[in-house]
Amino acid sequence: AWCRRTGSARGHLRGVLVADRLVTHVDAKEGTPAAPAFDARDHALLASAAREILRVIQAERVFLAVERGKYETERFFRASDMLNHALTPEQVWSTAFAAARELVAWDFAAITRHDAAERRHSVVAVSGEDFEGRAALEGLSYGDNAGLVAMAVKTRHPLPAASALPDGEIAIFTKKAHVQVRALREMQSLLVVPLIVGGEALGTFVLAARAPRRFPKDKRELLGVIANQIAVATKNADMYRQMEQMATTDGLTGLANHRTFQERFADLLSRAERQGGKVTLLLTDVDHFKKVNDTYGHPVGDQVLKGVSATCRGEVRKIDVAARYGGEEFAIVLDGTDREGARGLAERIRLKVQSQTFNSPEKGDFRCTLSLGIATYPDDGADAKTLIAQADQALYFAKRNGRNRAVAFADLNHIHLTDEKVPLRAIR
Ligand code: GH3
Ligand code: MG
Ligand code: MG
Repeated sequence: AWCRRTGSARGHLRGVLVADRLVTHVDAKEGTPAAPAFDARDHALLASAAREILRVIQAERVFLAVERGKYETERFFRASDMLNHALTPEQVWSTAFAAARELVAWDFAAITRHDAAERRHSVVAVSGEDFEGRAALEGLSYGDNAGLVAMAVKTRHPLPAASALPDGEIAIFTKKAHVQVRALREMQSLLVVPLIVGGEALGTFVLAARAPRRFPKDKRELLGVIANQIAVATKNADMYRQMEQMATTDGLTGLANHRTFQERFADLLSRAERQGGKVTLLLTDVDHFKKVNDTYGHPVGDQVLKGVSATCRGEVRKIDVAARYGGEEFAIVLDGTDREGARGLAERIRLKVQSQTFNSPEKGDFRCTLSLGIATYPDDGADAKTLIAQADQALYFAKRNGRNRAVAFADLNHIHLTDEKVPLRAIR
């Protein structure tokens, strides 16, 4: 029999090549083999076979390592690519959790935001199957403390250094939450990575697992890169939200702008059409507003617009639309509200504005009034354009008849006013 190590790769024994041969030719006289079973040529042949086998094994091992690496790299790129497509903060958070899932197994994850001006941390998203304590953590907001999240933001370094809870007493968020949420204390692997963009810490990405040693060094490095991308995506989402806000709201009053009003009015009308409901439009215009500007100055006029818009906003429900229609004109769309319901609301707004006091630093206190026009779908018109024209006509009537009043388009029919007496103003 012949036995040979198949060779060593950098000193490691990889295996053994065993060869055996039936001896066929035996010296009859001596009873011993005429020649050794394996001669020098056989040895050389087998040694060369062993080297060849070793080479194949080595190649196979390298190939497997590359494949595994490729798989991990693919998962990593998939994770980071996911974050490039997230637009809103909510998308960023859920994508962040999914991206981390591509890289490691975790039982609890959270995103916190840091408000540098207010020095406050808030937990904006929590994830984890079977994680009890979600309710206690979601929306949690707290001031600067010695918790790991606050420390990670302060030091701008991932914590804890060894990714295992340094001691049961140190809280991730607050001491109270740590005591309250048992599941948090059960986590044996932990990683709190600050989300940093341009030197600013936006918050942290928290990952935890019940099993120990889940986030070894190489994983922490990958998660660090993912955290950078979460930070950039968060910053982008903030800017996207800001831009959306700027595009849909009026800068002075914070109400919906004209374009948003048109869009939402059309939406509410088409829904009412499908479901057979009512929608009422109120158009309001501040009375003698030019005089306000002339008497007290434009900045004070702006304050009046802010005050009036706050009153309008305060009176409507979330589903309704309160918009700045134009200069000192506001539009309110009331969903599922008929003429009389809208008249009640119009009166409330009118009385509130009438009793509101505005102040001019030079000339003291003064008051303003509003005129309002009301038109209802489907009673007064079937589409947005018609309803706006009808509400405008009613508003014009209110202006012509003493101002500081609310008039419904249907009232005009009652008093048999003709179009010549109530000319339409230009419709936007
Ligand atoms: P009426 O009772 O008939 O409505 O009289 P009025 O003076 O209010 O007339 P009108 O509606 O034509 O005047 C609108 C004025 O509102 C003119 C414009 O200078 C002023 N205005 C428009 N936008 C702004 C604004 O953003 N800020 C201020 N301060 N004034 C504005
Ligand atoms: Mg006007
Ligand atoms: Mg006016």
